[in-house]
Amino acid sequence: MNTTTVKAYGTLAADQDVKPMDIQRREVTAKDIEIQIMYCGVCHSDLHTARNDWHSTTYPAVPGHEIIGKVTKVGSEVTKLKVGDFAGVGCLVDSCGTCPSCQQDLEQYCQNGWVGAYNGEDKHLGGMTYGGYSQKVVVDEHFVLKVPANLDLAATAPLLCAGITTWSPLRHWNVGKESKVAVIGLGGLGHMAIKLAKGLGANVTLFSRTPDKTKDAKELGADTVIISTDEEHMKSVAGTFDLIIDTVPYVHDVNPYVGTLNTNGTLVLVGYLGPLDPILNTVPMIMGRKSVAGSLIGGIAETQEMLDFCGKHNIVSEIEMIKMKDINTAYERMLKSDVKYRFVIDMASL
Ligand code: NAP
Ligand code: ZN
Repeated sequence: MNTTTVKAYGTLAADQDVKPMDIQRREVTAKDIEIQIMYCGVCHSDLHTARNDWHSTTYPAVPGHEIIGKVTKVGSEVTKLKVGDFAGVGCLVDSCGTCPSCQQDLEQYCQNGWVGAYNGEDKHLGGMTYGGYSQKVVVDEHFVLKVPANLDLAATAPLLCAGITTWSPLRHWNVGKESKVAVIGLGGLGHMAIKLAKGLGANVTLFSRTPDKTKDAKELGADTVIISTDEEHMKSVAGTFDLIIDTVPYVHDVNPYVGTLNTNGTLVLVGYLGPLDPILNTVPMIMGRKSVAGSLIGGIAETQEMLDFCGKHNIVSEIEMIKMKDINTAYERMLKSDVKYRFVIDMASL
């Protein structure tokens, strides 16, 4: 298969910085769209992958799955977009298309293995997929999203992961005007969760470790802010929430939050991947028919639904634009929760 060499930023090992490298992109096949990348959001998953936190990274790894760009080439059978259109690509770039999950527009739960924008098995070139920290990407049109014309392009990039990852549980658990929703952690996912839950009409509470974020959270739409390290403050919301979206990236005690669920309420983990510590106490779950669940990004149709909703309600991410060369500093700042509230790389700086 013919390929072209494009500039990218990636990492060669868990203990190395992200630095310039060349990668190959395939020539468009009949169903493919080639996109010149303009902006790429920086997700905490990029950092987990670059540093092999999940023990699953194959190197070299080129992160980035919040991609916005301009279509530069389309295959002969492409109908979704044309050259010159703006396009989005998120975490998903391939799936089998035939299993029960794919048939229900749940490509992220593909039973034959979904392919991530990075560190996924590249079915075309072999090896692993390379993400959005690069000049160009080539993706099957099914996995390319249309971008609402009224939204700022750079601030739209984070919707492709942070947006859909929080939208999907809000929709699955039927959040609406009567709902009481809480969000744990005010970072990239957390700030989108607040905006989207508010957009759906819910009453929204933020749980944060960081009292300094209270003012921002209210400006983003939170009705209430609870400091999660303050036991009395936590008790004040016992038995309250229909849905809690937990975005914390590292192991933490989920039990105090289960106590704040209403009867039939669900706490959905989207951040931390791995065994819980301390272990989950089932008593409050059984006594109140409460659930602890998980959720992974969202399917392509649901991602388009979220983008269209954001277009209608003028919802975008709060971003700090960075140059590609500053990515390692951005990771360090992200680890200190020093980002308001999503870094976006200006790919013209590559
Ligand atoms: P982020 O911007 O770094 O935000 C995480 C927030 O969690 C922080 O701002 C902080 O908020 C809180 N936090 C951080 N460390 C904590 C700790 N040790 N204990 C308690 N709270 C902590 O990260 P993100 O990009 O939103 O991503 C969050 C997680 O979701 C990552 O693990 C990422 O890999 C994962 N993710 C999952 C999916 C999915 O499909 N399920 C998709 C995308 C990302 P406060 O200061 O307010 O406490
Ligand atoms: Zn992500």
